[in-house]
Amino acid sequence: MDKQTQLAQALADAGAATKAIRTGADRSHEMEHAEPIFMTSSYVFDSAEDAAARFSGEVAGNVYSRYTNPTLRQFEQRLAAMEGGEAACSAASGMAAIMAVAMAFLQAGDHVICSQSVFGSTTVMFDKYFAKFGVTFSYVKLTDLDAWRDAMQPNTRLLFCESPSNPTAEVADIAALASIANAASARLVVDNCFCTPVLQTPLALGAHLVCHSATKYIDGQGRCLGGAVVGSQQDINEVVGVMRSAGPTLSPFNAWLLLKGLETLKVRMAAHCASAQTIAEWLLTQPVEKVHYAGLPDHPGHALAKRQQSGFGGVVSFVVPGGRAAAWNFINATCLMSITANLGDAKTTITHPASTSHGRWTQEMRAQAGIEEGLIRIAVGLEDQEDLMADLQRGFAAL
Ligand SMILES: *Cc1c(COP(=O)(O)O)cnc(C)c1O
Repeated sequence: MDKQTQLAQALADAGAATKAIRTGADRSHEMEHAEPIFMTSSYVFDSAEDAAARFSGEVAGNVYSRYTNPTLRQFEQRLAAMEGGEAACSAASGMAAIMAVAMAFLQAGDHVICSQSVFGSTTVMFDKYFAKFGVTFSYVKLTDLDAWRDAMQPNTRLLFCESPSNPTAEVADIAALASIANAASARLVVDNCFCTPVLQTPLALGAHLVCHSATKYIDGQGRCLGGAVVGSQQDINEVVGVMRSAGPTLSPFNAWLLLKGLETLKVRMAAHCASAQTIAEWLLTQPVEKVHYAGLPDHPGHALAKRQQSGFGGVVSFVVPGGRAAAWNFINATCLMSITANLGDAKTTITHPASTSHGRWTQEMRAQAGIEEGLIRIAVGLEDQEDLMADLQRGFAAL
């Protein structure tokens, strides 16, 4: 057996960390060890004949970076391997990835069922833009399987969710949602941003497509925007078609950052999870009304999360008594954590969802989703746990 075949077989059976470090490693003739960045918009041909053959697709090869780019390909191969998908397509951002899925699989007259607790821009994009083209949307509670079943229509093409949800960590039964989708030949799309393939592989649970905002944990250091879609080769071909003609293409430089981000994803996620668990348990001993973290045994999604995830993630939210004023005082009293809505960064972030990420929602929508006025969300980073708890202590002292 030659070494290439041997490596391919070893990688097929490898764990997430090994795949993240060893797949998609095409070396150029320079024999570099670290992946090169192919910062080029186009590619040259040997002759006019060669150009014609590559443009027509008769001969495989690069033509233009909106179509193919070696650095993007390496990132895509690595992420697909980790998610257990046949193929992946990268995108300029998480939203570009979701847009490409919607453009690829929806047309006028189609219907989508979406969880109420998805990223804000996702619902804005659906309701403000896709609705213009005659697509209709129903929003249901993530954990209410009957609501998903009741919302099904003959023209339902996509079911869309995130699990665990932001910021209250509701957990979706991905296998159950996949079977609801399958019964109607619709596709289940899971935004796997919060877990990453290290903690959860939705395709293995029956989902048809996985979307990522690679901006978050995959980059892991808040350096760039990026996104991706993973699924069957046939489905990804459709998404690639959108990407090639519409052009929300990932930059090769960002692809390189994300490629390197994947290499450390497993150890980073383990550290995010361990700190978040310690902090969530510690918060229960503090003057809080509630702590939302699926790693806590009395969280309603705990058993399900334990079954379908290998860790509970880095996002913890909690409710302080005294509503918005108290939450703002708490946040303002911290000095180490960054006041920003981002997550998935080495730097811990703290935010007040009711007045930021969910500020455009009506009071009633927020109440229904558990986004209380006293709710504070932290995305636990990679600093020392003791220092983070000392910072949270500053917040409690201000209450
Ligand atoms: C941030 C985020 C997005 C959007 O990703 P961008 O890279 O900012 O476009 C989508 N889904 C989830 C769950 C997110 O957190």
